[in-house]
Order: sequence, then structure tokens, then C-alpha cells
Amino acid sequence: MTQEKVKCLIIGSGPAGFTSAIYASRANISPVLYEGIQPGGQLTTTTDIENFPGYPKGITGTDMMEDMRQQSIRLGTDVRVGDVSKVDFSVRPFVVTIDDEKDILADSVIIATGASARYLGLESEMKFRGMGVSACATCDGFFYRKKDVAVVGGGDTACEEATYLAGLCKKVYLIVRKDFLRASQAMQDKVFNTPNIEVLFKYNTKEVLGDEDGVIGAKLVNVDGSEKIINVDGFFLAIGHNPNTSLFKGQIDLDAEGYIKTKGLSSETNVAGVFAAGDVKDSHYRQAIVAAGSGCIAAMDCELFLRQ
Ligand code: NDP
Repeated sequence: MTQEKVKCLIIGSGPAGFTSAIYASRANISPVLYEGIQPGGQLTTTTDIENFPGYPKGITGTDMMEDMRQQSIRLGTDVRVGDVSKVDFSVRPFVVTIDDEKDILADSVIIATGASARYLGLESEMKFRGMGVSACATCDGFFYRKKDVAVVGGGDTACEEATYLAGLCKKVYLIVRKDFLRASQAMQDKVFNTPNIEVLFKYNTKEVLGDEDGVIGAKLVNVDGSEKIINVDGFFLAIGHNPNTSLFKGQIDLDAEGYIKTKGLSSETNVAGVFAAGDVKDSHYRQAIVAAGSGCIAAMDCELFLRQ
């Protein structure tokens, strides 16, 4: 196994990772950033971003992440393709293994691995993943033009995806397990003002139905026990996220949901020299701008740690 010594290692390439890279570069701590399996992170699977300051006309997630990447590189970050396969935070320097083939010996680590979409956990849902079942309307919506689809969830993501899909598809069912939407009022208004979205309140999904060509429908069950079948070609999940922390279990403190615990307003984990930023430590706000701010905090904490 080859080895390389670095001062500051950043894991992850979303807004948190790249903002920490920008600040760490300017602080002269020579950051090395590994992009992970989804370069650019979750924003590369979203539609237009209209709430990130500085883009008066909005910007696509992919373009924004490419801008952040270029900015990091211009300021001196060594941005690399590769995924972390193992970490050992019990030794100094920390040992971070990349793709099972290279060990990075790092004086400090900033974890910005984000979160991933959650699935319902149905066998039928797994069976038809990639064959009609998707957790990303922006990535896959195109395949369902003029067809009927369903979106599960009642939060901002579900509403955003339902309205996006309504622009492409004939009909969109929004399957909500409660009798209200949790989404912001603005998103709710959009949903209720879109004629080809039908909200099915108080329904859970019992089974995703399909044949050898993929999804053909879904069997839903109402809270009163009655069942209903909808005919759809696409079945989209928008029910929240899980933090990408499986690598760090047993290495640093996580909360009950698996998010990295940090001290107060700082990015410090329980291991001195290991910092966390963005959605991997934030189960509440989960916004690009918050993740970016969190990346800035991590780089400043990290610089101070290295100086001391
Ligand atoms: P949320 O956690 O806000 O919503 C998840 C939704 O999925 C809830 O309606 C929840 O139902 C439902 N759900 C969870 N598990 C299941 C299940 N097993 N079966 C059926 N339904 C389920 O996640 P989001 O991804 O929507 O949003 C995350 C954060 O990002 C929020 O803070 C949101 O405001 C923000 N966001 C902001 C956007 C914007 O400002 N443009 C766009 C997208 C997200 P229940 O309500 O019953 O718990």
C-alpha cells in the first residue's frame, strides 16, 4: 500500500467540502480533497438553485458545484478522484485509506461526506430500483415524459420534485403519510396550484408493482386500512436522507440518527484534529448555504488546530 503525508485532508465535494477547501487553501494549509463517489454531492441531482446568494438568475446545481470546484483548484486545493474506504483516527497522523489502495497520513481531517437519499425499505422497491424506482426526479424525470408518476413524501423535497415532474409528466401523485404537508408554505402553494398533481393524504406504500419492463404501479394503503392501486411508470422517493457516516462508526461520536456530533457552534468532533461540516453533521437545516458556512467554520477550526 502506498503512503502519502498531508497536512489537511478533506473528504467530500459538496458545498461544505469545497468551501472548506477554499478557506484552507487561502490559509496555506495545502488541503487535499477527495471527491467521493458522487462528485459535487447532492446538489448535482437537484434542479435550479434560486436561494444561494450571488446568483440573481439562479444556477443549476451542477454548474454551481463546478464553479466551487474550479475556485478551490484555482486557490490551490489538490482535488482528487477517489473514495475513502477506511479510516483510523486512533493513531497520529490519522490514516485514511483511499479506494483500498493508498494510505493518506493526515495531520487533520475535515469530514464533509454529506447525506444520501432514504428509501422505504420495501423488497419491491429494491427490485425495481433503476427500473422505475428513483430517488432523484431531476436525474430520471426525463424518462417519464407524458407518463404518470408518483412521489412519496410531504417535505420540501417531495413538493419540489412533484412540481418539477408535473412539468414533464401527464400526472403526478404525491403520496403523503399524514394529513398535511410538512413543506414550506411557498412549496405547498406550488403543489396545490399545479393541476396535474393529485395529493393522496394518509397513504403509505405497501408494494411497488411491476413486470419485467419495470414499474407499472403501486399498491397504497390508507390509514383506515383501505387499499388503492395507482397506475404509474415512475416511483420517486423524497422521504429524507441518511448521513454518510458508516465509515466513521466507532471512530468518532455519532448521534442516534448517525449524524456526527460536534461541539457547540464549532466543527470539532470528539477527536482532536477531526472536524465535520455540512449535512453529515446537520440533520435540521440541510441547505447548501448552511453547508458552505459550515465548511468555512471547519477550515478555520482546522487551521487553528494545525497552528497550535
Ligand atoms: P423532510 O425530512 O423535511 O421530509 C421528509 C418527508 O418524508 C416528510 O413528509 C415525512 O413524513 C416523509 N417520510 C419520511 N419517512 C417516510 C416513510 N417511511 N414513508 C412515507 N413518508 C415518509 O425531508 P426533505 O428532504 O423534504 O427536506 C430536508 C430539508 O431540506 C428540510 O429542512 C427542507 O426544508 C429542506 N429543503 C429545502 C428546499 C428549498 O428550500 N428549496 C428544497 C428541498 C429541501 P412526515 O411529515 O410524516 O414525517
